[in-house]
Amino acid sequence: MSNRLTVPPSHVVIFGRPGSGKSTLAERLGAEHGYVLFRTGELLRAAVRRDDFLGRRVEIHLASGNLVPDQLIFELMEQSLKAPAAEKLLFDGFPRTMGQVPLLEDFERRLGFSIGCYLDIAVSPVAAIARMTGRRVCPTCGATYHIVGKPPKVAETCDLDGSTLVNRTDDKPEVVALRQQIFDEYATPILDHYRAGASEIFRAVDGEQPFEAVYADACRALGLEAPAA
Ligand code: ADP
Repeated sequence: MSNRLTVPPSHVVIFGRPGSGKSTLAERLGAEHGYVLFRTGELLRAAVRRDDFLGRRVEIHLASGNLVPDQLIFELMEQSLKAPAAEKLLFDGFPRTMGQVPLLEDFERRLGFSIGCYLDIAVSPVAAIARMTGRRVCPTCGATYHIVGKPPKVAETCDLDGSTLVNRTDDKPEVVALRQQIFDEYATPILDHYRAGASEIFRAVDGEQPFEAVYADACRALGLEAPAA
């Protein structure tokens, strides 16, 4: 991809439908390029595991596959995103609705950072659904795996604490299709908004390639050094 940013951005928002591989990419960008991940999905699941006030109110939305209401996301942001903002931050899963777009702008102002790239990992719904059926999560520590893409050392067992892995409740077949529909409904206007309004820092990569190629394209798009092919 030739349209790379000349200076790697310190603050990035990554978009991709459920099953696009966005989160695995975000983890690798974090590990290899020093981004601290800000992941609303993981923060919400952690709140549910802690069974705190916020967790008890978000649980029902997560299990149904529906989005968590913007007001609860606002509370989550207030709780989690404290000044000073990390030097390099990668937003994964936020903003997820047009209602959350001004929320991000508000945090940019208040914490004194600005998004330097909106990066879209483009994958078709059919390919995304196929990938989702292989995902596993540790019910104890939250570590994520994929039976093909990122298998645990021992089948169905967490590498970190030995717990038996489970399907995420929102990866159950009956909610997988719903989550794709929700993505199409809510993310399309956000992507259109940034594609049109922030075109100089909006980038899209083809997420249906093998993972290494997607990762290399994402690095190039961000102006980061890509791994050798
Ligand atoms: P995925 O990207 O595969 O959907 P996530 O871990 O990002 O997985 O999100 C899991 C669930 O958490 C979503 O289906 C949604 O219910 C909820 N969620 C995460 N981020 C947000 C957000 N910014 N706004 C509303 N709901 C969210």
